[in-house]
Amino acid sequence: PHKPAPTLKAQALHARYGTFTALNGVDLDVPPGRITAIVGPNGAGKSTLFHCLAGTLHPTRGHVRLGERDITLLPPHTRTHLGIARTFQQLSVFPSLTVAENVQVGAEQGHTHDQAAVERALRLLKLNGPIRNLPAAELPTGTLRRVELARAVAGGPRVLLLDEPAAGLDSAEVTALADVLRALAADGAALLVVEHDLDLVADLADVVHVMTAGRIVASGPPGHVLDALGATEVGA
Ligand code: ADP
Ligand code: MG
Repeated sequence: PHKPAPTLKAQALHARYGTFTALNGVDLDVPPGRITAIVGPNGAGKSTLFHCLAGTLHPTRGHVRLGERDITLLPPHTRTHLGIARTFQQLSVFPSLTVAENVQVGAEQGHTHDQAAVERALRLLKLNGPIRNLPAAELPTGTLRRVELARAVAGGPRVLLLDEPAAGLDSAEVTALADVLRALAADGAALLVVEHDLDLVADLADVVHVMTAGRIVASGPPGHVLDALGATEVGA
């Protein structure tokens, strides 16, 4: 039913903190209808890349494109309007608002401003029962993560950026999360997942990119890439 999402691209991205080079020439495609994963050890530059894509950090060289459009220097809220949604590891849910009100805010900040999208997001994240009228403050962390994701989904994103979406979830919650992310990709969204849970990545991703020291050092389908890593610890 939707226009196909454009591909989000990083092109020769470099980023520095002071004199320290955190990204050293990263090329990446995040295509529609696919789940793209980034793995790599702590300090590899995964979150730095994520911030460059979301607009919370400007690269020192290189470009970020959405389709043909150069968005390298656009601020985060403009990217949100263009259909690039993200979730926050530090949850950004408003505690005094109900679940449904939180998701409504997400829709207003997003790409579509569509009430039906709010109801779709509540259904997809299994938040459309009586829970929808509870204040977020009363909910456990696992549920708040679903509210957070519903907020992003309610904006009708064409691209969805997720940094460590499975952090702090139990295995049943991880399974439910994987189902939701697959459904979003099947609906045509372009998903990027930065994740240290390699079992989840193996189960979920269409393409995995391995980052080390600010570069992508291996790319391919998870069976290929994760097997080639063998016993190498790329998680953590
Ligand atoms: P990852 O998400 O893969 O663990 P990050 O992108 O967070 O890696 O960090 C990459 C490197 O940049 C690390 O060495 C980290 O210490 C450094 N770094 C990250 N953020 C900052 C910052 N705000 N100031 C200085 N150095 C930073
Ligand atoms: Mg990180």
